[in-house]
Amino acid sequence: MDDPGIEENRLARTLMELIAVPSVNPFGEPGGPCEVAAADYLAGRLASLGWRTEITEYAPGRANVLATLPGARGDGRPPVVLAGHLDTVGVEAYDQPFRARLADRRIHGRGACDMKAAIACYVEVAEVLAERGLPLAGDLIIAGVGDEEYRQEGAKAARADLPGDAVVIIGEPTELRICTASKGLAVYTLTTTGQATHGSVPGSGRNAILDMAEALRAVTGHAQDLAKTAHPLLGPPVLNVGVIRGGTQANVVPPRCDVEISRRLLPGETPESARDLLDAALTAHLGPAGDWELSPAWWSVDPYENPDAEFLADLRRCVAGSPAPVGFPASSDAPYFGAPAIIYGPGSLDQAHSLDEWVDLDQMITATSVYLEFITARLGSPAPGTP
Ligand SMILES: [Zn+2]
Repeated sequence: MDDPGIEENRLARTLMELIAVPSVNPFGEPGGPCEVAAADYLAGRLASLGWRTEITEYAPGRANVLATLPGARGDGRPPVVLAGHLDTVGVEAYDQPFRARLADRRIHGRGACDMKAAIACYVEVAEVLAERGLPLAGDLIIAGVGDEEYRQEGAKAARADLPGDAVVIIGEPTELRICTASKGLAVYTLTTTGQATHGSVPGSGRNAILDMAEALRAVTGHAQDLAKTAHPLLGPPVLNVGVIRGGTQANVVPPRCDVEISRRLLPGETPESARDLLDAALTAHLGPAGDWELSPAWWSVDPYENPDAEFLADLRRCVAGSPAPVGFPASSDAPYFGAPAIIYGPGSLDQAHSLDEWVDLDQMITATSVYLEFITARLGSPAPGTP
C-alpha cells in the first residue's frame, strides 16, 4: 500500500488528549456531564477539518456526536460509518486515570484501549483525508456515542440519524482481528419464597435458602445443557450465578432468597427465549412457579451477527493476510446502529476495564491504515460525471 499519510505523533497526541477528558459512565447513578466534554472535543476536531458535526444530548449530560464528510451520492454508494463509544468504565482505585502516558510505544490511561484509541484513529482518518483533498463518492460518517458500557442508550438514540444503507465499523479492541459476531447479555432474578419462623422450630416454617439450594441444582443442570450447544464463532452460551441474597439472622428461618443470574446470548436468542429455557428447566425440577419465581430480564444487551458478506469480504481485503472472522466475546453497540456492523480495532480486551489500560501505538497505526484503505475501496473516487 502507498504511504497513507498517517502522522504518528498527531495520532498519539489525539489519544492522549481524549484520555485527559474524563467521560466516565455513571452506570445509572445521577451524576454530572459524562460524554459531553469528549463529544465537544471530537466534534471540534472534525469541524475544524470541514466536517458537518452535530452533538445531541439524548439525555441530561449524555451526548452523541455525528459528523459527516459528505460525498457525491450520484452513484448511490452506501455510506461508511466509523462508530465508537465515548464513555469509559469507572476509575475507582485507578492511579491518575486521566494523565495519559506514552512509554515503550504504548499509551496508558483510562479509556486508552476501550475505546478512545479507535476514536483517535477516526480523527486521524479525517486528518489524512483532509490532506489528500480528494472528494469521496459517498458519505463518510464518524459516530461517537455515549453509554456503551451500560445500556447502549447512545447507540439506540443515534440509530434514527444513521442511514440504513450504511455499513458500520466499530473499533472496539479486537487486537486487529475481524469480529463479525458478539454475544448478548440477559440478567434475571430468581426468587424463592418461604415462611419465617423461629430458628429453633424450623419445621414450622419454610426455608427459602434451602429451597434456593434446590433451585440452583436445576440452574446448574441447565448450564451444563447449554454447554453442549455452540455458535461457530462465539462458542456456547454461558450462564453465571453472580449474586445471592437471603436471610436476616442465623436464628430465623429465612422467608426469601434471591439470586441474580447472567446469561450470555447467542445470535438468534432473545432475553425472552433464554428465559423460557431456564424457566422450563426450573419447572421440570421444582414444579410450577409459585414458591419460586423467575423475573423477566431487567438488564439486557442483544447479541449480533453481521449479515453482509460483501462488507466482510471488502474489509478482509484491507487487512494483511485476509484473516477469517472471529467472535467478539463481550457485548457491544453492534446490534443498535440499524445497519450491518463489524468490530475491528486496536488494543486488547485484556487491558480494557483494567487498572492499567493501555494500547499499542503500532496497532493504532495499522487500524488507521485499514480504515483508510476500506474507505478508499468503498468510497474512493466519484464515478465519472457525478457532481
Ligand atoms: Zn468498549
